[in-house]
Amino acid sequence: MLMVTITKVVDNGDPADKIDILVMGDGFDSSTTDQNRFDAKVQDFINKFFAIAPFDVLKTAFNVYKAEVVSNDSGIDRPDDNITRDTALNTSYGSGDLERLITATDGGVAIQNIMNQAAGDYSAGGQDYGAVVVLINDVHYGGGAAGFYTTTSIGKDGSYDYAGFVDIVAHELGHSLGYLGDEYEYNGDKKTYTGSEPSNPNLTIETQRNLIKWKDHIDASTPLPTYSKGGACDAPNKSATTLAGYPEGTVGLFEGGKYYNCGIYRPEGRCMMRALGYVFCKVCNLALIKSVSDRGAICFIATAAYGSELDPHVMFLRNFRDDVVLRSRYRRGFEDLLDIYYRFSPPIAEEMKRNEFYKNFMKYTVVWPTIALIKAIVFLAKLVRGKSPDKSI
Ligand SMILES: [Zn+2]
Ligand SMILES: [Zn+2]
Repeated sequence: MLMVTITKVVDNGDPADKIDILVMGDGFDSSTTDQNRFDAKVQDFINKFFAIAPFDVLKTAFNVYKAEVVSNDSGIDRPDDNITRDTALNTSYGSGDLERLITATDGGVAIQNIMNQAAGDYSAGGQDYGAVVVLINDVHYGGGAAGFYTTTSIGKDGSYDYAGFVDIVAHELGHSLGYLGDEYEYNGDKKTYTGSEPSNPNLTIETQRNLIKWKDHIDASTPLPTYSKGGACDAPNKSATTLAGYPEGTVGLFEGGKYYNCGIYRPEGRCMMRALGYVFCKVCNLALIKSVSDRGAICFIATAAYGSELDPHVMFLRNFRDDVVLRSRYRRGFEDLLDIYYRFSPPIAEEMKRNEFYKNFMKYTVVWPTIALIKAIVFLAKLVRGKSPDKSI
């Protein structure tokens, strides 16, 4: 089995608590040119990925590892041009007759071997892999997701500098981390959606205002549906710029999504889950923040107040949430509170990072009293529990 050098390039702590991203390359040969290009692209990936909201505020929830995989040939298989190359991870364009779709022709066995090695070397993947990213050293646009890995070409139109290669990864993480659905229509015969309510937080068939899952984010003055195809469901309207005359960021019901033209709605006109090159819409942003927070990978306000997740105050809050809140019979009530927390805490944490006075203000008026209150409740609960037959808390 091929053994490669794996380095931890972004270290935010114990892999058991963090979401691990493993980056490797295919079609990079042993030449200095290719190896330097790989190193530069990994750094480029880190810079760009953690600049995309909400991954900017979720940064400390991730670790990133780099696996140096050397191929015999430079570039990958491209059946359309009858090009066959000998590469370490056996990736190829043209999967499923779709030119731009890049997958591994060995079913991902070689990629899996490197994941196993990372697990052995670093316990990476201890909680789970947030993403296994395969950077493709080629000058043609392409990429894709095949279960446990995502491929993305660093090149496009004959150049190795496709700036958007990170967006493919952000979009795929939207699926795997945020359970988000695709917000685009498809060219096939998917005209009107007739299925049940999708479980994804960013798609709905509901048109009654008070029943829509993202109703809290819709202004009372925004009409529903906000954008309708008016029954013209035969031809897909794939325009990524559909804002229906509303300002960017307006949340409502925009018809079209989950590959269908009609009968299903997304929250905004534009979104990373609809077209690469756009930011995640508000609903998708919050879904990602909530999902990453639920994994216990981050505790925004306390971390911002105390500067480190390893501070005892922060660890106390995290343990309290995991051991008591998420297991107790009061969970539903707490979940409503947590929803409010998730909605407000990332912007507050951002502000605290910028403003020292605000940081101290929050630390002594919110975080510390909260901890003191919880400690008192836990102490009292233990007293009461000693005398009561009801032992659940
Ligand atoms: Zn997708
Ligand atoms: Zn969205």
